[in-house]
Amino acid sequence: MGAGAAAAAIAEGRHLLTARGLTKTYARGRFGGGGGDRLPAIRDVDLDIESGGSLVLVGRSGAGKSTLGRCLALLERPEAGSIRYRGVELTRLARRELATYRRQIQLIFQDPGRSLNPRFTVGEVLEEPLAIAGLRPGAERRARAAEMAANVGIPESWLGRSPLGLSGGQRQRLAIARALTIRPRLMIFDESLTGLDLSIQAQTVNLLRELQGRFGLTFVFVTHDLSMVRHLANVVAVMEMGEIVERGPAAEVFDAPRHPMTRRLLAAAARG
Ligand code: ADP
Repeated sequence: MGAGAAAAAIAEGRHLLTARGLTKTYARGRFGGGGGDRLPAIRDVDLDIESGGSLVLVGRSGAGKSTLGRCLALLERPEAGSIRYRGVELTRLARRELATYRRQIQLIFQDPGRSLNPRFTVGEVLEEPLAIAGLRPGAERRARAAEMAANVGIPESWLGRSPLGLSGGQRQRLAIARALTIRPRLMIFDESLTGLDLSIQAQTVNLLRELQGRFGLTFVFVTHDLSMVRHLANVVAVMEMGEIVERGPAAEVFDAPRHPMTRRLLAAAARG
């Protein structure tokens, strides 16, 4: 092994996922407009996600954060670039092979309540991913669901209820527990704290920190708002117009931001 390959192998050991040159262009605008030539939603993005760390992907609306999050979660195929996850190149895998990795990388949306099936109980919402993954018998699924509910502070008495009566913060906890039932390694939160009361945001941050330690999770937070996630971040990547314009250890980026966009986002977070 040459020096370059050895260095790459060491870097890969520390990193759960490494993305290189990711580019994704949508043929048409989200609302059907746009027509002809489109700018890529993300362009030539490199990203290293450290095992057990918390990476914050921040930028204004339209910067390409969600597109990058969806590519990393394998919900969207980039037209160029590489995604290596624990040494395996994922962009060339067939659909069937991807299923295993899709379970290990979970994406959580801003308001998961909206996508809840109103006919399901809280318990059934928690069990569904296990059923899709083929875990049997039902008793084992129920036990795993109840265990995860307890881990996020969902009382057992809720399991038979409809999730529609839950508050935003409670729904967010339900979504976290649901994703955890299938034991992911990487969790990508897309604006998950946005819109929640500050006290609920703080509680969710504390819960996530605790779960991260307990389950050895790696986190990516996609957000336009640095105010709460700064307490969780150890690496920050700032996006503008589909590209990463600044990245580094959170302490460095927050204390000495170099890019004007980083300064703007920090100033907005300070204003609250
Ligand atoms: P952010 O998450 O930073 O707000 P997005 O990744 O949602 O940014 O969007 C980046 C760009 O890609 C925007 O111009 C947006 O309109 C476009 N885009 C995102 N998703 C789609 C889609 N499904 N179809 C078409 N265009 C999209």
